[in-house]
Amino acid sequence: MVDFTLTDEQRMVRDMTRDFVNQHITPADVRRWERDGHHPDDIYAKMAGQGILGSSFPQEYGGAGLDAIAYALLTEELAKGCSSLRTSISVHGSLCGTTLKYHASEEQKARWLPDMAAGKKLGAWALTEPGSGSDAAGMTTTARRDGEAYVLNGQKAWISNGGIADHVIVYAKTDPDAGHKGISCFLVDKGTSGFEVVAEETNNKLGLRSSPTATLAFEDCRVPVENRIGEEGTGWKNAMFVLNHGRLSVAAGGVGIAQAAYEASIDYVQQREAFGKPIGSYQLVQAMLAEMDVNIQAARLLVWEAARKREAYDAGDCSYKEWMLAVSRAKLFAAEMSLKVCEDAIQVHGANGYTDEFPVERYWRDAKVLGIYEGTNQIQRLIIARAVTGLKDA
Ligand SMILES: Cc1cc2nc3c(=O)[nH]c(=O)nc-3n(C[C@H](O)[C@H](O)[C@H](O)COP(=O)(O)OP(=O)(O)OC[C@H]3O[C@@H](n4cnc5c(N)ncnc54)[C@H](O)[C@@H]3O)c2cc1C
Repeated sequence: MVDFTLTDEQRMVRDMTRDFVNQHITPADVRRWERDGHHPDDIYAKMAGQGILGSSFPQEYGGAGLDAIAYALLTEELAKGCSSLRTSISVHGSLCGTTLKYHASEEQKARWLPDMAAGKKLGAWALTEPGSGSDAAGMTTTARRDGEAYVLNGQKAWISNGGIADHVIVYAKTDPDAGHKGISCFLVDKGTSGFEVVAEETNNKLGLRSSPTATLAFEDCRVPVENRIGEEGTGWKNAMFVLNHGRLSVAAGGVGIAQAAYEASIDYVQQREAFGKPIGSYQLVQAMLAEMDVNIQAARLLVWEAARKREAYDAGDCSYKEWMLAVSRAKLFAAEMSLKVCEDAIQVHGANGYTDEFPVERYWRDAKVLGIYEGTNQIQRLIIARAVTGLKDA
């Protein structure tokens, strides 16, 4: 039997994050940041102080080394407050930090992880390009070896934290004729000559308006050989592995957004009256709330199951395929669930749900991207179908 009783530490992490969000990331704060197109740097400093930025980093490098369920709980609570911040922290920890934790050499870990875990340095993770997203192996960015450096040329698009990160993990082809087997991974430092932020999509996005998203250009950008993560040609395997960690954060984030929309709806239906009664007393409204409740809990359990399997995989007790399948199930279900819950939350709020005076329209805008980034809903379906049938799609 699977036991999902939370440990004292997991409960403490959840409650600490909840308190932090209630104090520093209220719906009024987020609305102000969004209206001003503001990226809240001061909150990052506070999150660093609270250990949130280093929560997923190994303890030996100064992080909290949280287990996967504790990290999922933290992620859910952060997303309840602000999905932009959740995205930023997940990219920093689950994508950039995980790349280093699992694939960097000891010397590289000692060089980069302590400052990232302390929140002194922020990370980004760049796989997508203007011409390739789902088909990431179709990337055209190249890295040509030249003496003790690699010369990078190309562009990366839609990179969360891209314009503000100190370190960017960049995937590029060292052998362009070898398909996905020719992809390698590099860490590029902010300020490296030939690396430029060429566009910021931050304020013109549908949602995540407090999360900076950028297009990055590399033009004869010389990256020292010591910054290559892993051997040449191992980048694809490394990226797919890391995405399982990222997708688990996205799924937990989806639960958090939906929970926020659900709680806002419960409050609203008790106050708003129609035909002389609170709207929460009408059965058609109650049905929406009941469906929200069940679906949120189902998604949360899928997230916890995927988190449990990550721990089991790390301990050698679960296969890679089993873990990956659990993550894709959780991400797909949570992404679609979250969007539907937020849509119903707007419905419950009537016209008030259609304005930014109430947070539910933001929840819906933020939920939409969960089915796009880190592998779209269609890609998750392909992963699941391939795993269960053993067949590749036509
Ligand atoms: C706000 C935001 C932040 C992001 N942050 C990052 C980041 O930090 N780092 C990063 O590397 N990327 C990031 N991305 C990029 C994101 O991962 C990609 O957008 C995503 O992988 C989808 O790629 P695409 O947009 O090119 O869509 P496409 O690949 O062009 O897909 C378009 C549509 O076609 C469908 N499709 C494609 N191929 C298939 C297929 N084989 N079978 C069925 N359907 C298919 C897709 O499901 C989708 O519906 C971010 C994106 C956004 C919007």
